[in-house]
Amino acid sequence: MEAVNRLALVINDPHLDPDLKSIALKVLHGERITFDEGVLLYEKGELGYLGVLANYIREKKNGNYTYFNRNFHIEPTNLCVYDCKFCSYSRLIKERSEGWEATMDEMLATIKKYDNEPVTEVHIVGGVLPQYNMQFYMDLFRAIKKHRPDLHVKALTPVEYHYIFKKAKVDYATGMRMMKEAGLESMPGGGAEIFAPEVRDKIAKDKCNAEQWLAIHEEWHKLGMHSNATMLYGHIEAFHHRVDHMERLRQLQDKTGGFQSFIPLKFRNKDNQMSDVPESSVIEDLRNYAIARIYLDNFPHIKAYWAMISRDTAQLSLSFGVDDIDGTLDDTTKIYSMAGAEEKNPAMSTQQLVELIKNVGRHPIERDTLYHVVTDYQDVVFDEATSPKKNYYSLPVLND
Ligand code: SF4
Repeated sequence: MEAVNRLALVINDPHLDPDLKSIALKVLHGERITFDEGVLLYEKGELGYLGVLANYIREKKNGNYTYFNRNFHIEPTNLCVYDCKFCSYSRLIKERSEGWEATMDEMLATIKKYDNEPVTEVHIVGGVLPQYNMQFYMDLFRAIKKHRPDLHVKALTPVEYHYIFKKAKVDYATGMRMMKEAGLESMPGGGAEIFAPEVRDKIAKDKCNAEQWLAIHEEWHKLGMHSNATMLYGHIEAFHHRVDHMERLRQLQDKTGGFQSFIPLKFRNKDNQMSDVPESSVIEDLRNYAIARIYLDNFPHIKAYWAMISRDTAQLSLSFGVDDIDGTLDDTTKIYSMAGAEEKNPAMSTQQLVELIKNVGRHPIERDTLYHVVTDYQDVVFDEATSPKKNYYSLPVLND
């Protein structure tokens, strides 16, 4: 059944709550929902209802396409001057023995390891330390672009930029322009956590606040560049904090149009200072993807990190608003596994990713960082002999 027909069935359900019916009608007519309606969706919207609305928007914006890219990560250090309570990754400077601090040469050696690989992006993000200053990162970006001009440099978040610009005594506009000149091409979405100060101060005190995070993205967008945005959910925040977070992003996107994708990040409670806080259920994760898709009407893409939520949930998420499941990763990030993600060794080949997408009836597209099509895999048949054994179950095809 077509997504629009499913939406019509929901709207015509005589038992549907009138407020939810009104939201469904807005979705059908392409109208924006309000803050209160966003909260209402969290409070009252059951999974099936939310999935129908989100899938309608997803297919209207992105058809049946599901995007992924071929990337690898460089994490310069897991030492950090900050002490975010949810962070399972960082080791404070006093715990240096448990950390790593990669040198410029080591990072360039990692880049060179991929010389003969068809990767399109390097994703650089890690902890914040004084020696990784503005000059260091400008030198690093220049060296990467000199060695491999076609490799897209997606690097650092406003958490790092706020810190290094302050140390270098440059304003955000100047700093971002200098980063662009050095070779930075886009910004990942991290460090956003939850914007509302009453939550942010409890879980991520001291690092850049909401206004600073948004201001740095705004300066970047003003240069004609793109970035992503995240939201860390499922810990001590209330539903209205999530909607407030998305509202601030929606407003900035109205102004600049520079965001490409929104990535909800599930709070994980392993080995951090919030281990007593239970994690959200898979149902709540799917509801959250769907509400993000409905609320953020001006964001082109909703992304799920398969390495964070598991391959099965990533497959499910494709029916709840998600149209991008990130990259092949090649086991180069520790951020997810150290936080308790299901994937301890997050590597997936292109073939595995393509099959994962096809098995739920979606159309796999390898993209570059800016969502240009690199390869359309719909009709690509992999050699059976080299096909990896499936370790997941096919879901019913939803796009008949
Ligand atoms: S979340 Fe980022 S800024 Fe916070 S402690 Fe961890 S590495 Fe540092």
